[in-house]
Parts: sequence; structure tokens; C-alpha cells
Amino acid sequence: MANKTVINNSSTEKGVLQSAELYNYIMDTSVYPREHQCLKELRAITSTHPRAVMGTAPDAGQFMALLLKTINAKKTIEIGVFTGYSLLLTALTIPDDGKITAIDMNRSSYEIGLPIIDKAGVKHKINFIESEALPVLDQLLKDPENKGTFDFAFVDADKDNYANYHERVLELLKPGGIAVYDNTLWAGTVAMDESSVPESKLGSRKASIEFNKYIAGDARVQISQVPLGDGITVCRRN
Ligand code: SAM
Ligand code: CA
Repeated sequence: MANKTVINNSSTEKGVLQSAELYNYIMDTSVYPREHQCLKELRAITSTHPRAVMGTAPDAGQFMALLLKTINAKKTIEIGVFTGYSLLLTALTIPDDGKITAIDMNRSSYEIGLPIIDKAGVKHKINFIESEALPVLDQLLKDPENKGTFDFAFVDADKDNYANYHERVLELLKPGGIAVYDNTLWAGTVAMDESSVPESKLGSRKASIEFNKYIAGDARVQISQVPLGDGITVCRRN
């Protein structure tokens, strides 16, 4: 697949930037030329999926890979896999003996990307669990060997549960570990007047606004809300 710009933003064609041209400039200059061939293939096969927009934005993914490398992440957890863009990106970034616990209640979308994950030679790093995420997190926390042992978490599933995920993820993370929460700007709607927001977006808009306030007040973590993709909030456990 050529390095052609594919806008991956559900709301506007420029995200929070001044213009679509500037967004395209960043993608074409810094993101697509460095994107792994298998990630491009995964994007291509996902593009025909009716919910293709759920795939992680490549610019946010690139930043996530930088974070993973910066902290030498080896043991990670992902909540919300879909066809596996962020999962493959993580698997390509962590060392060969790294491990990802990947949770999604729908295995069939994971299976769309699985042949590419296999081809990329990183399947052995992945433990995919088909389940609602909360019970899996609670189960993991029952084993003291898991507490405070994860380097990194990526949270990208139902927005209503972000605060519940955060409480559990914090217990799983090492001090200094990083959690990334995706879609925290929810297509820009968090800053819009409620009356101008499409009804389909109202529920997760409310959840995102509440989560953003909650995390901003959490003294257990250092945070930065980064306007990449649909907005990602990066937290470092103190
Ligand atoms: N990170 C993925 C990527 O890069 O393509 C996108 C994840 S997509 C936005 C959200 C996923 O969360 C969906 O695949 C959905 O099945 C899953 N999901 C939604 N609610 C969930 C829940 N309560 N527990 C586990 N998975 C859930
Ligand atoms: Ca997302």
C-alpha cells in the first residue's frame, strides 16, 4: 500500500490541527514513511470493515511506540483490540521475549488481523483473551504476581468504564509505568455545546468529559492529554 494519506479521524479531516493540509503533511512526512509494512497491510484489510474508523490512528500509534521504547516496555496489557493495529504496533515494538495481555470481547475482529500478526513474526508475544475486560482485570489482580508488574497499558474499549479500568490498571502498573487512554477528545465533542453534538456521540461524550475531569484530579499519576488521533491521555504512575 502506498504512503497515501488516509484520514483516520472520525470527526473532521484535520483533528485538532489548523487544517487538513497540515494533518496530511505530518502523516506524509513523519508517520507513513516510517510505518511498518505489516501495519500498512493491517490498515488496508481493516479499511473495508464497517467499523474501520475504530482502528488506532497511525500518528497516535507512532507516539505510543515511542513511549514503549522510551520506557523499555516488556510486559503490557491492551483493552480493546479490534483488528489489532495497536496490538501489532505494540508487539513489533517490545522485545522478542515481551508479553502482551490483549483483551477484547469479540475475537472475530482480532482474527481479521491475525494472519498479518503471524506474518510479522510477533504472535508469540500475544496472549489474547476473549472476554469483557473488567472480570479479566479483576482476575489478574487476584494473583499478587501481577500487581505492580506491568510496564504499559493501552485502554481503547468502552468509554463508560475508563475510570473502572484506570483503578485496576493503576494496580497492575509498576511505579513509573505508563497507561495510555484513547479517544479522550471524542471527535472534539468534549468541547462542544451538547446541543450541537450528534445523538450517537452523546453517551461517550459524557463519559469522556467525566473521565477527563477524574484523571486530571488524580494525584497518583502524572498526565498529559495529547491531541493526536482522537486525543490520547498519557498517564505515568507515580
Ligand atoms: N485498539 C484497537 C485498534 O487499534 O484497532 C481498536 C479498539 S476498538 C476502538 C474497541 C474494541 O473494544 C472493540 O473491538 C470491542 O469489541 C471492544 N470492547 C468494547 N467493549 C468491551 C468490553 N467491555 N470489554 C472488552 N472489550 C470491549
Ligand atoms: Ca480508539
